[in-house]
Amino acid sequence: MDLVIYNTLTRVKEAFTPIDPVNVRMYVCGPTVYDYAHIGNARPVVVFDLLFRLLRHFYGADYVTYARNITDVDDKINARAEVEKRTIREVTETTASQYHSDMAALSALLPTMEPRATEHINDMKAMIENLVAKGFAYVAEGHVLFEVGKMPGYGKLSGRSLEDMVAGARVEVAPYKRDAMDFVLWKPSKPGEPSWPSPCGIVEDGRPGWHIECSAMAGKHLGEVFDIHGGGIDLTFPHHENEIAQSCCAHGTQKMANYWLHNGFLQVEGEKVSKSLGNFITVHELLESDKVGGRTWPGAAVRLTLMSAHYRQPLDFTQKGLEESEKLIERWAKLIDGVETSSDAEPPVEVVEALCEDLNTPRAIAALHGFARAARSGDIGAVQKLADAAAFLGLMPESWQDVEAQTAEAATADPELAVRVEGLIADRLAARAAKNWTESDRIRDELAAEGIVLKDGKNPETGEMETTWELKR
Ligand SMILES: [Zn+2]
Repeated sequence: MDLVIYNTLTRVKEAFTPIDPVNVRMYVCGPTVYDYAHIGNARPVVVFDLLFRLLRHFYGADYVTYARNITDVDDKINARAEVEKRTIREVTETTASQYHSDMAALSALLPTMEPRATEHINDMKAMIENLVAKGFAYVAEGHVLFEVGKMPGYGKLSGRSLEDMVAGARVEVAPYKRDAMDFVLWKPSKPGEPSWPSPCGIVEDGRPGWHIECSAMAGKHLGEVFDIHGGGIDLTFPHHENEIAQSCCAHGTQKMANYWLHNGFLQVEGEKVSKSLGNFITVHELLESDKVGGRTWPGAAVRLTLMSAHYRQPLDFTQKGLEESEKLIERWAKLIDGVETSSDAEPPVEVVEALCEDLNTPRAIAALHGFARAARSGDIGAVQKLADAAAFLGLMPESWQDVEAQTAEAATADPELAVRVEGLIADRLAARAAKNWTESDRIRDELAAEGIVLKDGKNPETGEMETTWELKR
């Protein structure tokens, strides 16, 4: 079965062929860790998690490397630390741990690696010096700038000519730039901002621009040319265009990645998301607060809602959609109650076929409907198919199988830890029952800081809320 994916670079669907089938490599632009992840930021996480699962199915879990970076140098992080009188490290550490527990609740597997910008400053500096030495970048007034005019084919990914970009983009015109489109690789730090010794003989300390981190980290961990690069459609220009320019010019290659995948925009209740419209919803609020519909939502329902549209189409995220997803998950859970499966189970061919058609999730969900119908009419084989499909797609009610196994493991390894965690979980459930979200958040974050991830779900027998936990180290 061929995996066919739409390649933004060529604008056609192509059969996926890895450069090396025992070393399949995918890079996805990850979060800037300054605040809770918005529901729109969860869409690429779920989309590329599905692709990761599919690649592991075809090539084997040990032969697929998925890198998703953590941007921990950014103006928004500095601003938040300043406002809250916390250190930048505190802001990035707590935000990264919130991100991990939120995405775990959506059953997204952890990527193989999560390189951080601050841990790759020397790699970025080496790449910047390489670009200057090769004549693609220049030093001006404490900045290093990439000279876009030197890059043949700049604009190919987003399909824009240089003239269109100048006309359409809000480019920063600065006196030290040779051309308005030239972009920053390195810049001086303002007082109070993080800074590092600069490359290229610049005397003052400074910090990297945003684009260079992905080129440096992808090059270091995945190689000069790798298989798949993913992200949201809004990253196509300028971020991905600039990544390609930096990587190809530094390495002397024609391509950075063979396949470029982009997920479409997400709207909330039919409107563009904006803080001023009040429809800015974080994953954390869905899971832990009563902001949407006056109640919390199970992670599996949020995940199914994010899968309800094809990934390249715009997705309208609505309360009605969440309600429908929750009903479906509950119906499926009843049918597969007590059936043994795991996320490593062999997925039914109907589901694999659907995902091979450019990650056609609506078709995969339709296959689950078909299994459920057959299961209701007494087809035992369909019950197993439904369970395996739900496990493979990360739609098991709170992925109970894996969590149970890992919880049992951690508890046997350290019974004292188990007693303490269970106690805190009980306190947290009490706080939630009293709608004390601050206290419930505090307990969750306290445990997250120790690498303990909580998952909320309904007990399939009693229908009561219960929380399981696992140790992620
Ligand atoms: Zn990136």
